[in-house]
Amino acid sequence: MPSPSALLAWYDRHRRTLPWRALSGERTDPYRVWLSEIMLQQTTVRAVAPYYTRFLARWPDVRALAAAPLDDVLKAWAGLGYYARARNLHACARAVVERHGGAFPSDQAALRALPGVGDYTAAAIAAIAFDVAASPVDGNIERVVARLFAVEEPLPGAKPRLRQLARTITPQRRPGDFAQAMMDLGASLCSPKKPACALCPWNENCTAFARGDAETFPRRAPKRDGALRRGAAFVVCRADGCVLLRKRAAKGLLGGMTEVPTTAWSADFDEDEALSLAPILSSSDRSRKGGIAWRRVAGIVRHVFTHFPLELSVYVAEVTAETPAPPGARWAKISQFGGEALPSLMRKVVAHAFDT
Ligand code: SF4
Repeated sequence: MPSPSALLAWYDRHRRTLPWRALSGERTDPYRVWLSEIMLQQTTVRAVAPYYTRFLARWPDVRALAAAPLDDVLKAWAGLGYYARARNLHACARAVVERHGGAFPSDQAALRALPGVGDYTAAAIAAIAFDVAASPVDGNIERVVARLFAVEEPLPGAKPRLRQLARTITPQRRPGDFAQAMMDLGASLCSPKKPACALCPWNENCTAFARGDAETFPRRAPKRDGALRRGAAFVVCRADGCVLLRKRAAKGLLGGMTEVPTTAWSADFDEDEALSLAPILSSSDRSRKGGIAWRRVAGIVRHVFTHFPLELSVYVAEVTAETPAPPGARWAKISQFGGEALPSLMRKVVAHAFDT
């Protein structure tokens, strides 16, 4: 189990100096914690720093901010993005004055009830400003926890599990520093691509590091919202019941699998160009004068890959039993397709060709 004291000892030596972070032994101001956490939502430390300094100089406490005209707050926020945050910031300052007499509550539920304050921000304010044993879990901390426990469940479904695991390692002693130490670890050593595990205070207790695949965590559910790609597939049927097949390149999508010839799959595929990309076959049928008669099959074959949906139009041609396969392709008996490494997309294409 990762030891909180090991992380706290590391934090005491390596903590980041941030404009909103109280110095060691200094009193933490909930207003400053709240202001910084709202500004840091979807925004980098570097972008936030000058805005934070300007806001604090102009509105040094929550009462001053609550008394400010909304327009002034919006103007001061200009350039920081996600402007709903600025409206909520102002509404929240007013709510703190009206509901809580100008003092931020320490209770997570009461914090959560304020405008613009979600689970993460409520836990961060409770922990950092009031030293409550709360566990703020943002994307960086999800990554740290997923690696510590080698959580195989993919995001976003794993979020409740990651929050629960974060709670199991949150100490009663110095929970505010522990929350900031987790933030610092996620923002520095435990980086997304090349975690510096050799320097990590938890490397003896990290399951993913022990396995050697830390950078593969957290797992993520496949995205299914990539841009649509389109292309054409060519099903050439020989008179003896064979279909023309070829092998895909070893690397890349469906690497090394078998396919019927296709065009490239792209967002800007031009159907009018499809036949110029068809395989070149020499028919022994003299009546065609060497040409191949392609027929476009009505309809489309749709398939969804991990990162994009695909639509293929299908063209069919019939050739004589003597027609040789072009270079890089071969004939395969359709009755023996069960033994071919045909991905489901290609099975759909062949089925579509023969269905009509
Ligand atoms: Fe992250 Fe590596 Fe530390 Fe594990 S050992 S928490 S992967 S930096």
